[in-house]
Amino acid sequence: MKYFSTNNKGLRYSFKEAVIKGLAPDEGLFFPESIPHLGNDFFSRLPNMSLSEIGYEVSKHFVGEDITDTVLKEITRDALNFETPLVEVEKEVYSLELFYGPTCAFKDVGARFMSRCLGAFAKQSKRKITILVATSGDTGSAVANGFLGVEGVDVIILYPKNKVSEIQEQQLTTMGKNITALEVNGTFDDCQALVKMAFVDEDLNKKMNLTSANSINIARLLPQSFYYFYAWGQLKDKEKEIVISVPSGNYGNLTGGLLAKQMGLPISVFIASANKNKVVPDYLASGKYEPRSSFSTISNAMDVGAPSNFARMMEMYQKEYKQVIRDIKGAWFSDQETKHAILDVYERTGYILDPHGAIGYLGLKKHLRSNSAIGIFLETAHPAKFKGTVEEVINVDVEIPTYLKECLEKEKQSVVIGKDYADLSAFLLRK
Ligand SMILES: *Cc1c(COP(=O)(O)O)cnc(C)c1O
Repeated sequence: MKYFSTNNKGLRYSFKEAVIKGLAPDEGLFFPESIPHLGNDFFSRLPNMSLSEIGYEVSKHFVGEDITDTVLKEITRDALNFETPLVEVEKEVYSLELFYGPTCAFKDVGARFMSRCLGAFAKQSKRKITILVATSGDTGSAVANGFLGVEGVDVIILYPKNKVSEIQEQQLTTMGKNITALEVNGTFDDCQALVKMAFVDEDLNKKMNLTSANSINIARLLPQSFYYFYAWGQLKDKEKEIVISVPSGNYGNLTGGLLAKQMGLPISVFIASANKNKVVPDYLASGKYEPRSSFSTISNAMDVGAPSNFARMMEMYQKEYKQVIRDIKGAWFSDQETKHAILDVYERTGYILDPHGAIGYLGLKKHLRSNSAIGIFLETAHPAKFKGTVEEVINVDVEIPTYLKECLEKEKQSVVIGKDYADLSAFLLRK
């Protein structure tokens, strides 16, 4: 399997090249040159397959010869070692809970798979890989956690001093092992600028094998298709139409679902559920794509005004708007509506939604009002991650799961640096 750049279909890259580069040299996103159709045999075995077995069978079509079967089996077993249960919240309305990974959010799935692929490539080349990542909070901890203990890979996270939440800072600074947290005396934009400068510093790149691990990496997207297959396998009644609602920001999660559908998964409609950052629902309604600056909302992991995976969604449909709107419906909701849904679902069913899952739930219910189908929404984060908001709405304590609690008790370890590039390069060269 080869990959092309969404900006240029002429050039082809192997899976390994695409994963190590992250972004194509022309700044396009990597996209597979063909999408395999998985046969009936695969679909009939799905109800009895675990997430990691599904991961192996799907990804072997995409990695080609760059990773051996034995190693790929190890990677999927090790990366996907937590549950993603499908829970019935109301009659024919299911929550696919994707928050049992180490950072309590669905990004663990992609981050863990990608990190192990990079680890396998580092082993092949015997040269250590250094991942440099700037974070405003959540992404950094999912990426770093994914790499924790992976041999041949060092991770350096840059985060802005005093500008991430206490839980986030604890998650970033207590991992130890091959993870180092740099606390930058500056803003998130400064962190991002420092990382960019390091990537173009020729002297540094001669001495170190630097790689980014951002959310557009193909090895993060691919595993985000696995749990759609798993969810379908778990459904008892598959006679009716099935629709899936995805709370979205950069649209990587939804693109994973579209990928599954193109591989043959019988999902009739996807719902692109957004908060006030509704650039994609607006595109679906008007045919016009108009990226803009983002607003802050209570579902803050979805506060994106220029979604990075939009180019991949367009590639999937060869930019045919009519096809896009046949498969994807848009919906968006305010903070007020989100809070109302959290309270309403809690009072009626006892189920506790997080603000992102609540948007997914709302998008699904809106669609089901005029369509008869079985509905699934993705619950992308544990409600305890948004404890403040959720507790204020339902007026009940939300218990922090033990795996999150443990990191809150560990000692913070970080290195403080200034926002000048000289500070970062001095630190990297000392390593
Ligand atoms: C990142 C994130 C999202 C949005 O996912 P995209 O792939 O960027 O659309 C939704 N919910 C949570 C909790 C997230 O962390």
